[in-house]
Amino acid sequence: MMDFNTNLLDAIERIEKARIAVDRHRIVRLIAVSKYSTTEQIQALYQCGQRAFGENKVQDLNQKSQLLESLPLEWHFIGTLQSNKINMLLKIKPFMLHSLHSLSLAEELQKRLSKENKTLRTLLQINSAKENNKSGFMPEVAIEKYHQISQNFPNIKLCGIMSIGAHTQDTKIIQKSFETTYKIYEKLLPIGAQTLSMGMSGDFELAIKCGSNCVRLGTILFR
Ligand SMILES: *Cc1c(COP(=O)(O)O)cnc(C)c1O
Repeated sequence: MMDFNTNLLDAIERIEKARIAVDRHRIVRLIAVSKYSTTEQIQALYQCGQRAFGENKVQDLNQKSQLLESLPLEWHFIGTLQSNKINMLLKIKPFMLHSLHSLSLAEELQKRLSKENKTLRTLLQINSAKENNKSGFMPEVAIEKYHQISQNFPNIKLCGIMSIGAHTQDTKIIQKSFETTYKIYEKLLPIGAQTLSMGMSGDFELAIKCGSNCVRLGTILFR
């Protein structure tokens, strides 16, 4: 039997330690990434007090959110969104989309949102480490695109940015990718950015040190 309560408390303690070391006034949100977990496991973590969960496939999010409908959970979509899945995603009414990765997706999303008279909290995904296999806007264009989307697509409520740390064991390179992301976030603060979603099980303390206020943890919570 997995001890989710211990996992959660350990993770919170580590988040708090990292947070207090850099900024005691910053609040860091914890999203439990449940993509490899069953609804029973999500329920168990809910019973330990966790409310925010993240999924990276629309079908999984759809299925799990329906099965757990009776619980007051906050669902985050963190995966690569294909435009043919937009309708399904909007029906689920997620709390936030973390992964707006292209202008064409933004256009498509705006079309559907305005048709249904809905809005969606959204983060712009930045490919800060410039990796070929990752989606997201390149750091050089991120600020311009952020402005462009917030001006032209009124139903997309941009709340900040999201990034995945560089895929390497080299801490220096990971830190550099986080710093790149933070510099972009900093420039977006005057136009209302509030969320900097970065940090996963292997690198969240470093991400918090670099300015993250929202970590997405899967492995260390559900192991
Ligand atoms: C899977 C995933 C996570 C969680 O990763 P862990 O290493 O298991 O903590 C976070 N963010 C995204 C976008 C993911 O796909």
